[in-house]
Amino acid sequence: MNTTEQMIRKHNFNSGPSVLPKEVFEEASASILNFNNTGLSILEIGHRTPLFENVLEEAVSLVKELMHLDSDKEVLFLHGGATTQFFQVPMNLLDEQAKAAYLDCGTWGTKAIKEAKLFGNVEMVASSKDKNYTYIPKGYTIPEDAVYFHYTSNNTIEGTQMHAIPETKVPLVADMSSDILSYNMDFNRFALIYAGAQKNIGAAGVNLVILEKDMLGKVNRKLPGMMDYRQHIEHHSMLNTPPVFAIYVCLLTLRWLKKRGGISAIEKVNDRKAKLLYDTLDSLPVFKPTVAREDRSKMNVVFIMQNPELEKPFLDLCKQEGMVGVKGHRSVGGLRVSLYNALEMESVEALVSLMKHFAQKHG
Ligand SMILES: *Cc1c(COP(=O)(O)O)cnc(C)c1O
Repeated sequence: MNTTEQMIRKHNFNSGPSVLPKEVFEEASASILNFNNTGLSILEIGHRTPLFENVLEEAVSLVKELMHLDSDKEVLFLHGGATTQFFQVPMNLLDEQAKAAYLDCGTWGTKAIKEAKLFGNVEMVASSKDKNYTYIPKGYTIPEDAVYFHYTSNNTIEGTQMHAIPETKVPLVADMSSDILSYNMDFNRFALIYAGAQKNIGAAGVNLVILEKDMLGKVNRKLPGMMDYRQHIEHHSMLNTPPVFAIYVCLLTLRWLKKRGGISAIEKVNDRKAKLLYDTLDSLPVFKPTVAREDRSKMNVVFIMQNPELEKPFLDLCKQEGMVGVKGHRSVGGLRVSLYNALEMESVEALVSLMKHFAQKHG
């Protein structure tokens, strides 16, 4: 028996990098030894070869197909993670004298605002900082003279999610790092979407950026080539050596999603997972969800223990039962469970059963 056969998979509730489908792990590891029966590893093929060009082309076309994107949308795979998009977006879209509108609804959004201020004027339309970002602000006005309106669709750290696209004529820009591909929405409403891959799309090291070309070329500043979306569009995400393996893992995950029935099918599973977990939390008084009910995230479930002294015994029990990633982000504390696309229902069922036992013992 080899080590893989002996390995018992953990229930992985990590917030990112996070669980990917088992078959993606299997195919990706097979391709490290022998990619598509070429006698070469995926790690050693040239990026400017048909071998890799086909990978990239299929990944781009699966993104367009799964998200039902209009033909005028450009799909890019770029380096640098979502954090690079915090400055690449304003660098390309926001002139020094112009104004962008931002919603401040979590740690990541705050970072995006800080970076945007380096390039132009930022109007913060609303903030939920007053209550530690435990809700999504509503009823704010987006200034019509803003060149774009930026928000974080799902707040990975705080566990809130925007459940409707804001109504506005201002071009929409969204950081969808932690809920992209998890439920159906009209992705064509956005002028620009970006997402780090390591939550719902694939392996860390690459960013998915979807944008409208006619937003570009309107700022006066000079842009370094690697920061200029127009150059990446022109060179089909191959301005320099792309993160070949990370893009390949995205392709495998996108294929898996298509096989599972696409976004609408995975949305139903995600709804069931989130409902089971929130219902359990609501029914057991030892646990206390921290987020306004109507803004609860279906991807990241954040809660605390009614009695803080029970946090350690609960985490110890999770560890003992092979559950990882249940501890909350260091900045907010408490507990957090991430339910990304690749997390199977049975992992949520196992956690729920553990929670019930724990509540019986300590309730
Ligand atoms: C994880 C995350 C980021 C940061 O992604 P990096 O790839 O580490 O730069 C930004 N925004 C959101 C919403 C995230 O979940």
